[in-house]
Amino acid sequence: MIEILNPTLLARAKASGALVADILHTLKGRTTVGTNLLDIDRWAEKMIAEAGAQSCYVDYAPSFGRGPFGHYICTAVNDAVLHGLPHDYALADGDLLTLDLAVSKGGVAADAAISFVVGDTRPAESIALIETTERALAAGIAAAGPGARIGDLSHAIGAVLREAGYPINTEFGGHGIGSTMHQDPHVPNTGRPGRGYKLRPGLLLALEPWVMADTSQLVTDADGWTLRSATGCRTAHSEHTIAITDDGAEILTLPTRTQP
Ligand code: MG
Repeated sequence: MIEILNPTLLARAKASGALVADILHTLKGRTTVGTNLLDIDRWAEKMIAEAGAQSCYVDYAPSFGRGPFGHYICTAVNDAVLHGLPHDYALADGDLLTLDLAVSKGGVAADAAISFVVGDTRPAESIALIETTERALAAGIAAAGPGARIGDLSHAIGAVLREAGYPINTEFGGHGIGSTMHQDPHVPNTGRPGRGYKLRPGLLLALEPWVMADTSQLVTDADGWTLRSATGCRTAHSEHTIAITDDGAEILTLPTRTQP
């Protein structure tokens, strides 16, 4: 099902989006060398509860995962890229961390992800991966607007990833979002322009380019959730929730404030 939101629901989507972004960037600000992934999960749980919002993850139990996720945020480190299950691990200098968060407030969900390097070292490969997914996300958003087709967004995202030399995996990509976290239409991270669903004002999309440095193959961790690169290479992931407007697209998951 594809949902088109009315102005009341769009206003709620904006609030949910700002909340997701503010939590993510607050967590990024608190994360240092030695921070445990389980601390990040507890901080996320507390901030979601204090905002009167609901986690989209804690009870999430899709066919590809092992039972309910049971945590409030995805934490993916280095070769882990998607669905990273928080576990007892203290972050080290130079670790590449991806935080992916979806919450629902007022009945509308928003979803975003950021990747960053922990500590003071700036590993060139990690920075290149992160910047490439950010540029691919920006290209996908620039291609979005009323009348554009899903294939236009997919093509724009894929062109940036391909030009940077990274293989593209199409098993997981962006998606519609609204009353639930994952909805139609699917937004693959590569595609052909002019193909697919035609975008309309009021549609919410989560665009999420992600890459692995030297492979398109994923392996599932022993935890039953975390997806890693098959070669152990580094990975990155950037995601925004956007709303299609009358004349373009609005990013809903930009931070408005962060907490200490
Ligand atoms: Mg998503």
